[in-house]
Parts: sequence; C-alpha cells; structure tokens
Amino acid sequence: MTAITGQAAASSSFPDAVESLRAQIKGEALLPGDPGYDEARAVWNAMIDRRPAAILRCDGVADVIAAVKFAKSEGLPVSIRGGGHNVAGHAVCDDGLMIDLSMMRAVHVDPVSRRARIEGGGTWGDLDRETQAFGLATPGGLISDTGVGGLTLNGGIGWLRSRYGLCIDNLTSVDLVTAEGELITANSEQNPDVFWALRGGGGNFGVVTSFEFKLYPVGPIVAFAAPIYPLSAGSGPIKFWRDYLADKNGDIGSLVEFSTVPESEDFPKEYWGQKVYTVAAVYAGDAEEGMKLLQPLREQGELVTDFSGEIPYCDLQKLFDELMPAGQYRCYWKCHYLSGLSDELIEEILEGVATTPSPNTLSSIWNFGGATAAVPAADTALGDRSMPYMFSIDSVWPDAADDEKNMSWTRAFWERMKQHSQKGRIYLNFPGHGEDQRTLVRQAFGDNYKKLAAIKAKYDPQNMFRFNQNIPPEG
Ligand code: FAD
Repeated sequence: MTAITGQAAASSSFPDAVESLRAQIKGEALLPGDPGYDEARAVWNAMIDRRPAAILRCDGVADVIAAVKFAKSEGLPVSIRGGGHNVAGHAVCDDGLMIDLSMMRAVHVDPVSRRARIEGGGTWGDLDRETQAFGLATPGGLISDTGVGGLTLNGGIGWLRSRYGLCIDNLTSVDLVTAEGELITANSEQNPDVFWALRGGGGNFGVVTSFEFKLYPVGPIVAFAAPIYPLSAGSGPIKFWRDYLADKNGDIGSLVEFSTVPESEDFPKEYWGQKVYTVAAVYAGDAEEGMKLLQPLREQGELVTDFSGEIPYCDLQKLFDELMPAGQYRCYWKCHYLSGLSDELIEEILEGVATTPSPNTLSSIWNFGGATAAVPAADTALGDRSMPYMFSIDSVWPDAADDEKNMSWTRAFWERMKQHSQKGRIYLNFPGHGEDQRTLVRQAFGDNYKKLAAIKAKYDPQNMFRFNQNIPPEG
C-alpha cells in the first residue's frame, strides 16, 4: 500500500503519471504552470493561495474514480472542490491532488416523487432554478453560488430550516466514490453507516458525485421581512424579535444581521457608513398570510429603510449574492451555537458589533427550533439540535494590510462570546481558518465523535480526504 504523504509529487516521474491519467479522463488534468491552473486553484476567499501538485477538473463519475485511484497509487492526499466557498479554503491544498467538481452541476427533478438529484459540484442556484420550475424546493443556503456539497455535508442552514430542517435532514441518498476508488450508493438501506456520517461529518468519507434531496411545495412567492434599524435603536427590536418568534420558530427562518450601510442610493444618505441591523425573516407558506405574520417585526421603532415584501423564492435565494462576490475579499468567519439569548447577551453583542473594523463585515444571530430541533442527536452525525440560536461573525475586508486587525478583532470577539456557547460547539461550516481544529471538531460532534472516527477508519483508513474539518481515523 502506498502511504499518503504527497511526496510522490516531487518525483521526476510525476509528470509522466499525470500524462497517463490525461489519457484516461474526459476532463482536464492541470499541473503548475499549465494554462488554467491558477484559475482552477482560486477559491472564494481571496486569502487562500495554495498550490496543489495537480488539479483534476472532473467531467463525470468515471473521472472522479480515475482521480481517486491516481491519488491512491501516487500517495497523494486529496482536497475536494464543490462550490469553492469554504472560508478556510479546504477545497484547495498544497502538494496534494485537488479534485475539482465544478464542471459537474447537472440537476434532475422528479416532481412526482418530489425528489431532486444534483451532481457533486452543483450550486444552490443550480438546484433552486430547476426545482422551482415545478414549484418545489429543498432547504439550501442563503447565497446562490455556494456549493451544495460543502454546505450540505456539514449540516446546511438556510431560510427553510424552521419548516423543513437542515439540508442533511432532507438528504435521501448519495453516490460516493470512496478512498478505494469504488462507487457506492449510501442511503438508509445501503451503506447506512456512511450515510449517517455524511449527514454532518463533512467531506471526510469520499467524493460525493451526486446528492438526492426531498422536495416541498415552496413559493413561487414567499414572504420576506427586512426592516433595517440603526444600531442606536439599541436592544429593543432584538428582544422583540426573540420574544415574538418564541412560538413561531417552526414557521419562520430568521436572523438579525449587523452590518454597515454602504454608500448606495438604496439607502438614505444620512445613514451611509452608519452601523445598523436587519431583522430578516422568511415565511415560506402563503405569502399574504406571511406578510401579516412578519409585520410586527417591522414596527419596532424608527427604520433606516425597509426591504420587506413578497418575493419570488429564487430571487430571495440570490438576494445577498452581491454582498459576497467570489475572489474579491479576504475573509475569516467564526461562530458559536448559543445556549440562550438573554437581555445581557444581546447588549454584549451590540457592544461588540459597534467596534467592527471593516464595513464589509456581517455578524448575525440565527434562530433555530422547529423542524431543525426535532431531529434527535443520534439520528445524524451533526449531533445535538437543542441550540436555540447561533451567533456568527463573518469578517470580510479588501486589503491584505488589514488582515491582522480584522482577524484579531474577530478572534477576540469570538473568545468573548465563548462563555455563552452551547458546550463550546460551533457550526463546522464557519470554522475560522481551521485553527484549533482538533478540539472544535470533537466538541461539535459531542457523543457522535467516536462513531464518526470509526466510520472514517473503515472508509478512509489513510486519511486521504484530510483537507476538511478533519476526523482522523480511529478505532
Ligand atoms: P468548497 O470549498 O468547494 O468545499 C468545502 C469542503 O466541502 C471541501 O473541502 C470538501 O471537504 C467538502 N465537499 C464539497 N463538495 C464535496 C463533494 N461533492 N463530496 C465530498 N466533499 C465535498 N453555510 C450555511 O450553512 N448556510 C449559508 O447560508 C451559508 N452561506 C454562505 C455564503 C457564503 C458567501 C460563503 C462563502 C459561505 C456560506 N456558508 C453557508 C458556509 C458554507 O456552507 C461553507 O463554506 C461550505 O464549505 C461551502 O461549500 P462549497 O461546496 O461551496 O465549498
């Protein structure tokens, strides 16, 4: 067995090995210096600058199988690129093989059985567009060009979470290429151990070449609230939000998002550059009824502006895309699941966000409950669902010269919030740059960790898939 060290890539025979791989595949194999190599290794976070030994841009499942077998025979660790949005940059690695799935985005919808299947490199925009053609949807993320792959495998939190749960709660089956280079199907009947592990355990277990999801009738028009309050409004509207949603968390997906008003004609000039928060909420049932239900969230004081209204579901799913363009900004995102949201904690959050160094940074309080909370901890690898809220700090800034200022502010704020976290647990899709990974991964999975490490040992004993929120094989 070749040990997975990545050293083979430095040998003089490596380019010949890549040449013979090229003869087997339909997609492209790129080496450093090849045209397209630098574009293919670029990911969403502009801070990430890694150089894989080779990049395989797969065009079909046969290419993925060839790529994994190649990595195995060359002893290369593998990074997997879905949508490329992972803020820690796990899609790309130094000295290993990058398996790039971004050419594999096909979607098939079966409106009768209410199932959709999407290839491993597809985005939420790809999936929403096709499912909405039938008036259907599955819970996804908040930005249309985020990959279905990375977002789903670590849980998947979007607007529909209250009614229909996380992405993993609606995943019904996957096709997976294992570290042996074998294609298997995993669902509740076939290979149920790895199917359980994939629902929260990230990209640790192989390359998912397609995902199948349950669909629900959604839209095409949904109710959306987005009143924007000045930060100077203080905690009142946030306390109201918390209390008003207390018996509606099963119906309304919501977040309070702290930001800075851009210099845009969409906002009154006197607020440009001011710190504000948006009480954003979505009701995905009858839109008219939803607007009535959301109305009180819009009446809690003087507003900067209000973007509320009925909106097509596909437009909602693209609403924040402009704020988050690929490859332009430097980013460092962290979070905590919160054990509660006391009045004191709201004040502490308001104090913290008032000091945000970059106007591009967003911080958010996300509500949980409803269908998300209804799933028992042992049912999916993600674990305990009892957290009532999450607090995320999405630091975003344009200049490398400001890296230290923004990262140390984020870390200090995150450390301060730790005392309010639910047993130190974080959502592994907002993991900083992967520092303290060992501890954070163990804490996130809690009682499920041991079982996950044993499944990892069965499916990937050499830890070929190690560029992720890694679960080293054990047991
Ligand atoms: P990539 O960087 O391509 O992949 C990340 C990792 O996922 C890979 O290293 C691999 O380990 C694994 N992976 C990806 N595809 C596959 C596959 N097919 N098979 C096996 N492993 C795979 N998260 C939310 O929950 N809700 C949101 O609303 C949300 N919004 C976001 C908005 C933006 C702008 C960004 C940058 C991130 C957002 N996230 C959100 C976080 C997001 O879920 C993670 O960044 C996630 O890793 C992105 O998935 P990706 O496929 O685009 O990433």
